[in-house]
Amino acid sequence: MSYVITIDGPAGAGKSTVAKDVARALGINYLDTGAIYRAIALILYESEVKAVDDYIMREALSKIKIELRDKAVLVNGFDVTGEIRTPLVDELASMYSAIPSVRKALLSLQKEQENHGSIVAEGRDVGSVVFPNAQAKFFLTASPEARAKRRYDERVAKGKPADYSEILTAIIERDKNDSSREVSPLTIPEGAMYIDTSDITEQEAVQLILDKVKEVIPNEAK
Ligand code: C5P
Repeated sequence: MSYVITIDGPAGAGKSTVAKDVARALGINYLDTGAIYRAIALILYESEVKAVDDYIMREALSKIKIELRDKAVLVNGFDVTGEIRTPLVDELASMYSAIPSVRKALLSLQKEQENHGSIVAEGRDVGSVVFPNAQAKFFLTASPEARAKRRYDERVAKGKPADYSEILTAIIERDKNDSSREVSPLTIPEGAMYIDTSDITEQEAVQLILDKVKEVIPNEAK
């Protein structure tokens, strides 16, 4: 029987690394819902679709096809996987994802991933809205400073320009947007295990999750 594990939490809590490692350890699929929001935000921005008119927004959304292929994200057939990982798209995704028609348009694409086998889904509302019946739910967080430091280190490791205080300000701003929006705000899903990664390593977080998964779904997750 297939099952769903959800990992929600704010930017920089280590969700992506942890979710990928959990998926690998269990031999199941990984769903990065943030990549879907990033892709749609990029295309809406490039097409100059503003949030002011819901009719125009819905028209534009009806013409956009997002596909997930292995590790790639395609928008109307074009691979945007590399382009969506920039500070500009961080901001755009946070802005466009607050629009109800955008969230609605992306819901079925996320839900249908369940049909391709067991998954670890990562995002902001995967445990509360997308997969409310998930067998195991987690909420990963850390202090804004610890999250900014993690993002800073990631950028430095990739040889990209990085400014710690700029990253911290952007993280605090994104937290505010993601938690205060009216639709699907970032919340701790009911029944989710809360993990603070400020003072533990990502590998320790992975182990906490694997232990819990084995406890709640022992037959599936071996
Ligand atoms: O996780 P990631 O940082 O890639 O997500 C980018 C943005 O997409 C988030 O800041 C958030 O605004 C939005 N998002 C969302 N719901 C999700 C996943 C991401 O609103 N399930």
